[in-house]
Amino acid sequence: MIQSILSNLAIILLGHLCMVMLVNQKRRVSNTFFSVCVVLLFSAVIISMFYLPINIDGFNFDLRLIPLIFLAIFRGWKITLSTLIIVCTWRYFMGGVGAMPGIIAGMAGPTLFVFLFYAFKKETNKFYEKLFVITVCWFISDFPIVFIIPNGWEVFKGFFFIRYTSFLVVAFAYYTFIQQEHKKYYYKVQLERMAWYDQLTNLFNRRKFMELMETKQHNPAKNQFIALMDIDHFKKINDTYGHLVGDDVLMQLSSIYNEKINDHMMIGRYGGEEFIMYLEADTLDEAIITLENLRQCIRNTTFKIDCAYHIPITISIGLAKLEKNLPLKDAIQIADQHLYIAKERGRDRLICAC
Ligand code: GH3
Ligand code: MG
Ligand code: MG
Repeated sequence: MIQSILSNLAIILLGHLCMVMLVNQKRRVSNTFFSVCVVLLFSAVIISMFYLPINIDGFNFDLRLIPLIFLAIFRGWKITLSTLIIVCTWRYFMGGVGAMPGIIAGMAGPTLFVFLFYAFKKETNKFYEKLFVITVCWFISDFPIVFIIPNGWEVFKGFFFIRYTSFLVVAFAYYTFIQQEHKKYYYKVQLERMAWYDQLTNLFNRRKFMELMETKQHNPAKNQFIALMDIDHFKKINDTYGHLVGDDVLMQLSSIYNEKINDHMMIGRYGGEEFIMYLEADTLDEAIITLENLRQCIRNTTFKIDCAYHIPITISIGLAKLEKNLPLKDAIQIADQHLYIAKERGRDRLICAC
């Protein structure tokens, strides 16, 4: 019996390992493909447990309910319901007297309870909450035997302890693994945020921008351009209103940049009050129009200094074409020279040729 319990646990943990691998690939595949894989994986895990029954006093049980409970808690109704339909259909066609009780009490009923429970309550990390959910699911799954077979109460009493204990132990072992993985995933996302994004502006930092540019340059789609965009007289804002207000202006400007970003445009913080843009356009004129629109948009926006006071700002832009055989840093240098000229000629303008 212990061997059967351990084999159920092994199947659940193997499924968990596959799930971890799947989550790690999530960004590379579409959401639909990911969901289909999760449904197939959990169906396979649950169906394998149908063939690894735990025999207690001549009655067969398994721990199929445990992955279903956590699927319902963490992955939402669409994935859970699809999995439920597959495994219930499979169980139905396996036949036997236990088929209908196994489907209704052993899978569908408890899963419905989890949905209802979390429909009125947000999922939390509280231990007693999980204990309650798992206990109720176990009860819905096992207690009906009292009414199904003639000496049901005696049978229930006979396997109650071992069944409930194994259910709890395996559920909490599985939950501990899931929690560990959630923590790891959270730290990974945090680490990526810190490594990729500028903390103040939430735009790509210089290192990440350059890294992304390497891949863009190797797969040229349309004509490619690099622009450096610098706030005019930003020091004056800092000197007049203080650095915190200066920071706030940078954040407001970044949210404008963030709104403009699309598949053909990428913006990063180059340093200080200077931003770098990658732009794909059919022609130089098209690139100029896009940048001039952006410059005008910033010119026409007022930036909040405090509740009652707003100021305008302007930017200067240096634009350069990213040629096939021109190293990225050379293109940036040309854009920088153009930016310098824009400043010299009175600021608030775009320069794309000397
Ligand atoms: P120009 O029109 O020639 O670009 O003049 P400018 O004043 O914008 O340029 P300058 O290089 O003289 O000054 C840039 C200022 O930007 C100086 C620096 O303190 C400020 N700055 C750089 N990074 C930050 C930041 O993260 N927050 C704040 N508040 N200020 C910053
Ligand atoms: Mg400046
Ligand atoms: Mg500057």
